[in-house]
Amino acid sequence: MEDKHERIISAKENNLEDSGLDLTLRPKKLSDYVGQEKIKENLSISMQAAKKRGEPIEHILLYGAPGLGKTTLAYIIANELGTGIRVTSGPAIEKSGDLAAILTNLSEGDILFIDEIHRLNRVIEEILYPAMEDYALDIIIGKGPSARTLRIDLPRFTIIGATTKISLLSAPLRDRFGMTYHLDFYEHDHIKRIIGRSADILDVELEERPADEIARRSRRTPRVANRLLKRVRDYCEVKGDGKINNEHCLDAFAMLEVDELGLDWIDRKILEIIIDKFKGGPVGLNTIAAATGEDMATVEEIYEPYLMRLGFLDRSPRGRIVTDIGYKHLGKKKSNQNSLI
Ligand code: ADP
Repeated sequence: MEDKHERIISAKENNLEDSGLDLTLRPKKLSDYVGQEKIKENLSISMQAAKKRGEPIEHILLYGAPGLGKTTLAYIIANELGTGIRVTSGPAIEKSGDLAAILTNLSEGDILFIDEIHRLNRVIEEILYPAMEDYALDIIIGKGPSARTLRIDLPRFTIIGATTKISLLSAPLRDRFGMTYHLDFYEHDHIKRIIGRSADILDVELEERPADEIARRSRRTPRVANRLLKRVRDYCEVKGDGKINNEHCLDAFAMLEVDELGLDWIDRKILEIIIDKFKGGPVGLNTIAAATGEDMATVEEIYEPYLMRLGFLDRSPRGRIVTDIGYKHLGKKKSNQNSLI
C-alpha cells in the first residue's frame, strides 16, 4: 500500500524528500510567490493596513487542493509582517488542553497556522470561537454545580486556517475568518516560472523545451512541478552532464511512467479497468476501488479529481464513465454497446 501512495505526481506532501526540498524552494516573500495575483494583491493591502494600524492581521482562511501553496502563503505572511508563526493541524489538536497550551504560548501578533482545519473536533472549535473573536480562553474548572468558568486573556494573534475541503468546515467557524481565499490550480506559464525559479535555486541548467514538458506534466500544481523537476534532474545527472535537455527529460518521464498530461500508471490503470472490464462504465466507485486495490477514499479524493478535471472521467448517478477523450488518450476504441449509456 505504502509505495502506491508515494506517487511522484501526488500533490500531497507525503515523503521526506519534499520537506527537505521544500525548505529551500519555498518562496519567502510575496514577490517570489508566483501566480494567484488577486490573492497576493488583497493580502498585500491587508498586511500594509495591519502594519499601519499596529494591529494583527485578520484571521485568514485558505482553501484549495493539496500542493497549491497554502502553507507557503502562511509563512510568507508571517515573514512579511515580521511575526512568529506556530504550525499545527486539525487532527493534531486532540484535547482542549492541547489548544490551550498552544494559545497561551503565543506572543502578540503571532500567526497560528492550522492545516486541515476542517478536521478540528467540535469541542476544540468551540474553544476557538472566543479565542478568535475576543482573544480570550474560557476554561471550566471543576465539575457539576461547583464548576466555574475562568477567562484568560490571550495575546492578539491571527489564525490562518488551511483546508482542502471547505464544505466540511462548520458555518460558525467559517464566519469567524475575516478573509477567505480560494487558491486555484496554476496556469501553465506560472508553473513554468516556478520550475525556472526552482531550477535556479537548485543550480541546474534547464532548457526551454524540457521546462515546458515538466510544466505540462505537473497537474498545474507547484508541489508536483518541484518534485518532477528534481526527478528529471537526478536522471540527467546520472545519464548526462547534469544539464536538463529535452531528450533526457523525455527519457526520464518514460522511465517514471508519467505521460504527457501528468498521468501515472495508476491513473491509466483506473481508466483501463473501466474500459476493459466494464465497457467504459458506468461503474461504481467501490468496484473501481476493488479492481485497482486502492481504498475508496483514495480513488475519490486523489485519483478521480484530476481525471475529471481533464474530462477523461464523468460521474453519473449510476457510476463513473470514461469519456470519449478518455478513450482517445489511452488510444482505445469505444465499443458500440457504450452508445446506449
Ligand atoms: P499546500 O500547503 O497548499 O499543500 P505548500 O504551501 O506546501 O502547499 O506548497 C508546496 C510547495 O510548492 C512549496 O513548498 C513551494 O516550494 C511550492 N509552491 C507552492 N506555491 C508556490 C508559488 N505560488 N510560487 C512558488 N512556489 C510555490
